[in-house]
Amino acid sequence: MLARHAREVIDSCRLLAGFSEEAGRTTRTFLSPPMREVHAYLGSWMERSGMSVQVDHAGNLRGSYPASSPGRPRLFIGSHLDTVIDAGAFDGVLGVVLAVALVDLLQHRPLPFSIEVVGFSEEEGVRFGVPFIGSRALIGTLDDEFLGRVDARGRSITDAIRDYGLDPSCILDARVGAEALGYLEFHIEQGPVLDGLAVPLGIVNAIVGLSRLAVTFNGSANHAGTTPMHARRDAVAGAAEWIGAVEALARRTPGLVATVGRLHAQPGAANVIAGVCEASLDVRHASDDARATAVETLRQVAQQIATRRELSVQFETNLEQPSVAMSAAWVAALERAVAAQGLPIHRIDSGAGHDAMILAGRMPVAMLFLRSPGGISHHPDEHVIEGDVAAALGTGLAFLDDLAGTHA
Ligand SMILES: [Zn+2]
Repeated sequence: MLARHAREVIDSCRLLAGFSEEAGRTTRTFLSPPMREVHAYLGSWMERSGMSVQVDHAGNLRGSYPASSPGRPRLFIGSHLDTVIDAGAFDGVLGVVLAVALVDLLQHRPLPFSIEVVGFSEEEGVRFGVPFIGSRALIGTLDDEFLGRVDARGRSITDAIRDYGLDPSCILDARVGAEALGYLEFHIEQGPVLDGLAVPLGIVNAIVGLSRLAVTFNGSANHAGTTPMHARRDAVAGAAEWIGAVEALARRTPGLVATVGRLHAQPGAANVIAGVCEASLDVRHASDDARATAVETLRQVAQQIATRRELSVQFETNLEQPSVAMSAAWVAALERAVAAQGLPIHRIDSGAGHDAMILAGRMPVAMLFLRSPGGISHHPDEHVIEGDVAAALGTGLAFLDDLAGTHA
């Protein structure tokens, strides 16, 4: 039965990947026309599995599976239905399809809590440059300023909601109340760690915190031919030395990742020594203290390099996002559920943001990662192994039974 459902999950993800804004590749942004076909396909499977289905006014697909008696708490299980541009078939979608299959496997057997499967309308931030529109609606943080953001064609989030036939003035109806028991999300790892260890499933400890800074080295621009090497104040050379130090610090610090992903040199000519070099810095760690220490160290190193090279350096912090811990009790329950499948237990930090991070402000959350073969994600070659999907379904069932025991 698990094997059959696992096959159906994978086939469904492949089929849903065909519902796209672009011919020949998968691109599905917030409430674009193909989202209707996704809602229709999953909505009908939800109904066959005993769920009542609605689309809330933030465009989230929601299927409710009743509890054994009224007034019981509600477990949310879900992920997102939007994609990046030229996406694979599994990022986000897998978590929603897997949740529907999990409820289907209950075969109408009620539990002492209700289940709501949520297919979030938006997580990737592609259309409006801001992510998590769907999950923000569930915690009620979509305000007018946020909803007024516009896409490349000048349509606002509010317009997009109206274009889809929904009512933006009812967006607060999407909010979750005190009935929430917690949120569980299945997601592909989107990295190479589990595959490298040959482990099918990973239990997420925390979603790492993130600091994003703009770092500017200032020197002086001058002629590349006539200025001797000892007389230069080269901003790019200073930045380059510092970037080497960024990589070295991250390589020797467990759990730390640090990236300089964007560089801009001015004036930016081949025959001119750069007077200014702006660099982005992205630093992530599951421990907020470790992340703060790393950022401080990189500031000091930049200052030392600048002083020695007669440059100046400025730091501007653009984003500080604390790490989000998963519920300790649910992590333990997932460990029992994974062990019951005869699989090794592996705890992992999530280096990427997920809807669970937003919902964590309101309720206990937990995540289970499925290995990404080759570590490939946000790419058409993204895939999953059928046996891993079956193992995730088995883990999900064991987790539901465990939770039923504590909430009987
Ligand atoms: Zn995702």
